[in-house]
Amino acid sequence: MFYFRIFIIGLVALSIGNCYSMDFYRIQIYEILCQDCGSSELDCKAILSKDQSIQESVLEFPVGKKNGEGFYIAQHFAEINPRFRNRYHLGEDWNYVGGGDTDFGAPVYSIGRGIVSMTKDLGGGWGKVIRICHSLNAEASQKLGYEFVESIYAHLSEFHVSTGDRVERGRWLGSIGNSNQAYPSHLHFEMRNILGEDLGGGYESEIPAYFIKPSQVIQSLQALR
Ligand SMILES: [Zn+2]
Repeated sequence: MFYFRIFIIGLVALSIGNCYSMDFYRIQIYEILCQDCGSSELDCKAILSKDQSIQESVLEFPVGKKNGEGFYIAQHFAEINPRFRNRYHLGEDWNYVGGGDTDFGAPVYSIGRGIVSMTKDLGGGWGKVIRICHSLNAEASQKLGYEFVESIYAHLSEFHVSTGDRVERGRWLGSIGNSNQAYPSHLHFEMRNILGEDLGGGYESEIPAYFIKPSQVIQSLQALR
């Protein structure tokens, strides 16, 4: 019995120690996000390849009623961030023009028709994340030079879709959050032209070739309208 009590006390001490070290870890590196968040939960390439009705021709901005109206990019794609060892930002940070937390709870929309490949609360610097895979029609593929696009919406405060959902352009996916108060609320938004790669850390010392500049890609497809 004595040894059993010692064992239980040891277990409790160990779990408290872990909580503290996790908190410490999170505070120290919160915007490095995570090193190994894994890939999408759903391999949607097969689904998209089989079902042509899921193809998309035009993309929209993920915030604002139209063309990101009322929002601005606080941190651009490929911007070097001195706070994170001078590494490149791999997405765009969208904020409401009101500044501060005025965008907390604002709707985040799907940029196009597609399949939700992940809805997950990763905690830490990522918070709640939605990943959507899109298949482009022939005209859009020709314009961009690739067939698939993945869109990633991070730091959300809530989800309105689930993994496996088929969504249309403009679908309300979730709302802007602050990743459990890790920073002022904003949408960290990434786009890639390969599906299901690891989520990574939001910053890199070299930008992998499959990361694409979100606003530029969206605008170039809108020009086809
Ligand atoms: Zn960001």
